[in-house]
Amino acid sequence: MTNPLYDRLFGIHAGKDTPFLHLPDGTVISHAEFLDTAARIANALTGLGLEPGDRVAVQVQKSPEALALYAACVQAGLIFLPLNTAYTVDELTYFIENSGASLVVCDGASEAALAPIAQNAEAQLLTLNADGSGSLMRRALGMLPAFAPVARDEEDLAAFLYTSGTTGRSKGAMLTQKNLLSNAEMLAREWRFTENDVLLHALPIFHTHGLFVATNVVLATGGSMIFLPKFDLDDILRLMPGATTMMGVPTFYTRLLDDERFTRDLASHMRLFISGSAPLLAETHARFEERTGHRILERYGMTETNMNTSNPYDGERRAGTVGFPLPGVELKITDPETGEELPQGEIGLIEVRGPNVFKGYWQMPEKTAAELRENGFFITGDLGMIDEDGYVTIVGRNKDLIISGGYNIYPKEIELVLDEQPGVLESAVIGVPHPDFGETVLGIIVPEAGETPDLDAIMEAVGGSLARFKHPRKLILLDELPRNTMGKVQKNVLREAYKDLFQKA
Ligand code: ATP
Ligand code: MG
Repeated sequence: MTNPLYDRLFGIHAGKDTPFLHLPDGTVISHAEFLDTAARIANALTGLGLEPGDRVAVQVQKSPEALALYAACVQAGLIFLPLNTAYTVDELTYFIENSGASLVVCDGASEAALAPIAQNAEAQLLTLNADGSGSLMRRALGMLPAFAPVARDEEDLAAFLYTSGTTGRSKGAMLTQKNLLSNAEMLAREWRFTENDVLLHALPIFHTHGLFVATNVVLATGGSMIFLPKFDLDDILRLMPGATTMMGVPTFYTRLLDDERFTRDLASHMRLFISGSAPLLAETHARFEERTGHRILERYGMTETNMNTSNPYDGERRAGTVGFPLPGVELKITDPETGEELPQGEIGLIEVRGPNVFKGYWQMPEKTAAELRENGFFITGDLGMIDEDGYVTIVGRNKDLIISGGYNIYPKEIELVLDEQPGVLESAVIGVPHPDFGETVLGIIVPEAGETPDLDAIMEAVGGSLARFKHPRKLILLDELPRNTMGKVQKNVLREAYKDLFQKA
């Protein structure tokens, strides 16, 4: 009997007393100890009457036990459903009811919110507490440290992961064992991970980046992670000497660069820095290389597909691009209207196909049918192009495309110009309703600390570098851009806030 995901990510480390998790207080948890905890939890879960295919919704702070719960679900054939710790009661209610979870796992921080929701949804509720005081860990500790993995097929579902909700309500992506396994093993090879690697892990584990990229890559190779509850600069700087690699979102890198304790010396022994989840500015790329001598490797993926592209490990890591389609992943650019493939160099929808592409959105057959073609290609909703050397560039999201007076306007092109202006920290360009043009361009500018950018001068500079139809009709100063927990700019929030700006009263 086999359970491919368990066997190849977890089972292969059985009995290994080499480190798996290094905690900030110096505690080290070996692979064997981790698997021991996972097996005990798997026994506790089956003891509750849970059966293969049941959903286990989890909203807990990042901890070794939370990760062991993931391993336990894989082992017991349960569908792991991690929930963002920032979700509100309304959101949690929706996800727990929508997913039909049989069990809800909370911790001290989330128990009060989750208890009534679990009760209404007729799901069992258990508390996971890292110190063993929670109901799940108490049960688990009384269990045997061995559990025979439940037989699973590669096509069986392993996890539901809700998307980040950057463009609207999060959708539950159904991910199979094959989706997770193929990506983990392929990324480990592409990025040359070995059992000697120590990954600096400060990402949340309720999102694809921290769980199915970072953690799974380490599990596929048997290395270890410095497992931090969150991105804390002091911890990162203190612990980087013990690491060989780091994965992060772009804001991790800008925050490191803004701290002068982050020196070339501190980064010199590192093998690799990887960025994803949001665009890495060319400026951050350049500053990072100047400071450390390292070129950050940028990759591109999403909840529904894990990773699609990556800049090369050897060879040019081209700033502003997300590199090449990964082995086994087919990527094409298509016309949003006709669905026809577009020639190299033209901007269109990014579609991907491969073992990484999910099974569909949970209980959203229409949305699934609209985005997942019968021929297996998934319409990502991102706009992009492929250059003459095969590098893929993300131009933005289709939903953010501005259509003004019949012209297609890509916000990113304008943002790049705005970002370069004196006193500008960053910008966001959105389309807002306009009585004559359908939509018009609004530029939102976040000033650098203590600066007041000259908006007239900026308008003039834009005039010199962009065609007239792309000029923002108005520029607005804002202290900061609305972001979700993954650091992604929420343009729908901005569009909502400014929707009446040009409407006639
Ligand atoms: P929702 O689908 O709910 O609106 P989301 O798309 O932000 O939220 P995720 O699956 O977490 O949810 O994010 C995937 C998206 O993140 C991609 O579709 C893409 O727009 C963006 N992204 C990921 N990596 C990169 C990158 N390197 N450069 C630019 N954008 C990226
Ligand atoms: Mg998305």
